[in-house]
Amino acid sequence: MKSPFHLSKKEMQSYGYKIVDIIVDHYADEESKKPVSKASRQEMDSIFLSEAPDHASPADEVLDFVTENVLPNSNISSHPKSFSFVPGPSNFISAMADSLATGFNIFSGGWIVSPAAAELEIVTLNWLLKMFNFPVTKGGGIFTSGGSMANLTALVTARRIKCGSDFSDAVIYLSDQAHSSNIKAIRVIGFKEEQVKIIPTDLEFKFSINKLKNEIARDKLEGKKPFCIIASAGTTNTGTVDPLDTLADICEKENLWFHIDGAYGGAAILSKKGSKILQGIERADSLTVDPHKWFFQPYEIGCLLVKDASWLSNTFSEKPEYLRDIEGNESEINFYDYGIQLTRRFRALKFYMSIKTYGLNAFKKAITYNIDLTEETEDILRKSKNWEIVSPATLAIINFRFNPIGKNLKEEELDKLNQEISSRVVASKEALLVTTVLQNQVVIRMCLINPKTTIKHVKDTLSQCEAFAKEVFLEWKM
Ligand SMILES: *Cc1c(COP(=O)(O)O)cnc(C)c1O
Repeated sequence: MKSPFHLSKKEMQSYGYKIVDIIVDHYADEESKKPVSKASRQEMDSIFLSEAPDHASPADEVLDFVTENVLPNSNISSHPKSFSFVPGPSNFISAMADSLATGFNIFSGGWIVSPAAAELEIVTLNWLLKMFNFPVTKGGGIFTSGGSMANLTALVTARRIKCGSDFSDAVIYLSDQAHSSNIKAIRVIGFKEEQVKIIPTDLEFKFSINKLKNEIARDKLEGKKPFCIIASAGTTNTGTVDPLDTLADICEKENLWFHIDGAYGGAAILSKKGSKILQGIERADSLTVDPHKWFFQPYEIGCLLVKDASWLSNTFSEKPEYLRDIEGNESEINFYDYGIQLTRRFRALKFYMSIKTYGLNAFKKAITYNIDLTEETEDILRKSKNWEIVSPATLAIINFRFNPIGKNLKEEELDKLNQEISSRVVASKEALLVTTVLQNQVVIRMCLINPKTTIKHVKDTLSQCEAFAKEVFLEWKM
């Protein structure tokens, strides 16, 4: 019997080429599309809701239906006017590399199954270790689905290495600007609420060091065991980098695990300005970076780096040490021993192929451009009588609000106005530009990590905001 999934070589070719054409058209025409899509559950149900069909349909028919209905109904996170959250600029080479990895369905768990996949993970992790000044021979890491899983993997490792099996008194510290995935991870590892200390940030959204020291001292007096600090290297809200060297000093003095969440900002190490801001990042015990953000990779690839690779194998390896010989050469890493997943897709391939193809200099150039573009945006905003900077260009994030000189708007009016501006921009679908809240103020946030974004894209969107503000003032009769 032929497999029920059999397609002839010709059929596969025509289907595959069609998909390549769809992707290429998307890349080529992206800018002429709108970055925002909006649909209600009801609208989506009316298109898609159906029983699983028992019988076959022509492949082209299904593909056409998907092209028409699925692909347009999601935001384009690689669009140059996609300014919100952390955009996903991605790149074509990596997208194709992902198709190869999936096409060959390469199992990236054990060395024996796919030595080249394991080797490429080792090689690309070494590139990252070197970038961040981590020890290449002793250090190690693992690719994960994203930053959330990297943070979780880090905390499981930290708990195991620092606390063993008894962590009932252990206390973990992070700032109120730390990413929510860290709180999720802390919940997953079974910490009680009183074992988590959320430290306020200062006016620049950095870890308040005095308050942190007070908390650690008090916890020690109460007989608890401070065990880990989570710092942010680029908060998602403002791009702020915590005082890494100072935090590293505290960790050394207090014998704490130092985890740095660099999921957003870590990649800035490739630029001169960024590496200055990130000084101290090399002192982390564990570091999360997220290639599917500012390293321009398609989803999903996150990464955890650690100072000592044996921390990972001692945490996640489920085989007794005496079986190591059967397992093969120790240098031939089985990545299922380094993290939570056994079956893993071949994430290293896209990272490898894109860096080999474009060269690291292209990445450096893009990241430097992004940081400069954000500063230029700050410049434009400062020179305008309409805008107020709330958090200046930091890495590639800037927060600002419409607050025209002479209008003397109350805080409440400013919040409403800026919310209204953002909602109208999003409703126009011309740009994805949403708000965040900083120090109780509703502000507009831009994250400019897309190398296709130009200052014209930014200016056009600011003009659109200004036009909407005028509209709102008219409606408010102001
Ligand atoms: C995005 C982000 C995360 C989560 O990463 P995912 O890849 O979305 O799982 C964690 N920390 C920071 C600082 C982030 O910006």
